[in-house]
Amino acid sequence: KEMSTRENNVAKIKVVVRKRPLNKKEISRKEDDIVTVSGNALTVHEPKLKVDLTAYVEKHEFCFDAVLDERVTNDEVYRETVEPIIPIIFQRTKATCFAYGQTGSGKTFTMQPLPLRAAQDLVRYLHQPVYRNQRFKLWLSFFEIYGGKLFDLLSDRKKLCMREDGRQQVCIVGLQEFEVSDVQIVKEYIERGNAARSTGSTGANEESSRSHAILQLAIKKHPEMKELKRNSDGNESKPGKVVGKISFIDLAGSERGADTTDNDRQTRIEGAEINKSLLALKECIRALDNDQIHIPFRGSKLTEVLRDSFVGNSRTVMISCISPNAGSCEHTLNTLRYADRVK
Ligand code: ADP
Ligand code: MG
Repeated sequence: KEMSTRENNVAKIKVVVRKRPLNKKEISRKEDDIVTVSGNALTVHEPKLKVDLTAYVEKHEFCFDAVLDERVTNDEVYRETVEPIIPIIFQRTKATCFAYGQTGSGKTFTMQPLPLRAAQDLVRYLHQPVYRNQRFKLWLSFFEIYGGKLFDLLSDRKKLCMREDGRQQVCIVGLQEFEVSDVQIVKEYIERGNAARSTGSTGANEESSRSHAILQLAIKKHPEMKELKRNSDGNESKPGKVVGKISFIDLAGSERGADTTDNDRQTRIEGAEINKSLLALKECIRALDNDQIHIPFRGSKLTEVLRDSFVGNSRTVMISCISPNAGSCEHTLNTLRYADRVK
């Protein structure tokens, strides 16, 4: 086991916590920062009251593969999480990078720049002498899971469906994929996709907190001309076989999974779906870590869609985002306990 999980010195599963700084609102409310970081350990100082109403602090200690405090830049996050995986994408690795946490904890802030940096590095590798003659190309797709349904964020939120072929390969029927050869185009696709994320009448952050956004970068081997001609419908836009890929997943707000008693029926249904998917995700990562043969993909749409990224040569990075303020203590503890159980 040790050999396979430490292949290329990149751990099969890595769990990282990122703490954001207190924001202006929290500072103006004079909220305490209750999270202290020391190396790869962190302590939550939970403010509590005794029955006689005297205040005391309960300490909760956790340890992870890495803990990134409020001074850490997005660039450093990239170097800690995604950068080590890039070279092995060319060696048939399927990688996933998740951002988990309550709404407002910094998931989107953390996730948005990562695919751009990854694309930059992937393109750089493509041009190296070893790969230059391999006909490798970089492809991008971006979609959303909302209420258990799939929507293409790069083609007018077209509704998509998932199919599994006989070899357990996941296929999202109709999902638009774009060949990207320079990073400026990647940037435009990311911005376009983010703008297309679920935004209802209640405001952008509110609605997008109920969806999982999945951006995939895939290295594919472009078919040779003669192969293209052999296929009757062969045209140049056929992307070819996947060599390796990396998926970036900006998960729904973890607190949304608790929306199962809300007065609004739609919110309840969405809450139940989110709860189911986050639980299924945890179970899949745990099964992966234990080298279990049976991985419980069927638990949710999210894990079904990511099925091919959990089998074979896979890598998983979980970035758990936490808010530092006292008011978020309960959610922060929930996030840390979730992250703790993943490993
Ligand atoms: P989420 O996607 O988890 O709901 P966001 O990424 O939208 O949260 O972050 C909420 C707010 O906090 C945003 O205004 C964001 O710019 C800010 N923020 C988050 N993380 C950081 C950070 N590490 N440093 C500075 N600002 C941050
Ligand atoms: Mg967000």
